[in-house]
Amino acid sequence: MQIIADLHTHTLSATHAFNTLDEMAAKAAALGYAALAITDHGPAMPDAPHMWHFANQTALPLVLHGVAMMYGAEANVMDTNGGLDFAQSRLRALDWVVASIHSPCIPGLLTAKEATRLWLAVAENPYVDCIGHSEQQNYRYDYDLVTKAFAKNHKVVELNGNSVNVRRDGIPNMKLLLAACLKNGCHIALDTDAHSTTQLQGNMPPLLAMLEEMQFPQELVVNATRQNLVNELKLHGRICAEYIGGEIL
Ligand SMILES: [Zn+2]
Ligand SMILES: [Zn+2]
Repeated sequence: MQIIADLHTHTLSATHAFNTLDEMAAKAAALGYAALAITDHGPAMPDAPHMWHFANQTALPLVLHGVAMMYGAEANVMDTNGGLDFAQSRLRALDWVVASIHSPCIPGLLTAKEATRLWLAVAENPYVDCIGHSEQQNYRYDYDLVTKAFAKNHKVVELNGNSVNVRRDGIPNMKLLLAACLKNGCHIALDTDAHSTTQLQGNMPPLLAMLEEMQFPQELVVNATRQNLVNELKLHGRICAEYIGGEIL
């Protein structure tokens, strides 16, 4: 299986990431990617860029180093009702929205019932494209029930390469989550969650190995082919499907 895009990456718009937008795009080009999503942290995270960062993305080029750019955000889930740290109007204007749980925004543990409720609510949000690093052990949820809702509402479940480094307790859960996605026809993405160009390259191979071990089908992996990605973006009503599909390039 090949990967043609990374759909969850960070830039030094937050100081705990280390490379510029230009450097990330150049690295994506060197890796042969067709597209790259920049998804810096939503404003509720400490060290996140200001809200104006997300409002001013029209200042940026659609194509950088030959890579079709998707300007998005990693929104924070703020409560078990699926509330996020962006207005819906802002999320609608972005190219790609990852929704993730981060401990500064949801302090403490969640029961499986609470985490299930949270993700079922996020599944109903029309402007969430992707579910970020949801395999974390502190927030275990009913994978079978929720991936059915994700599949129905076109939410892409990511397999997160940074989790392999920094959230290792969730690695066994990744495999259970993948199995539920496969069973329920839920689409997935392999994302590095890179905070540097080094991670943009290095975080991907372990995820590919995990899929190969499971013989996970390519048609469910949204960033395995350009056509898969374009089809997914169209399902989400994202206008960036046009330039990623090459139709206006
Ligand atoms: Zn995250
Ligand atoms: Zn991230």
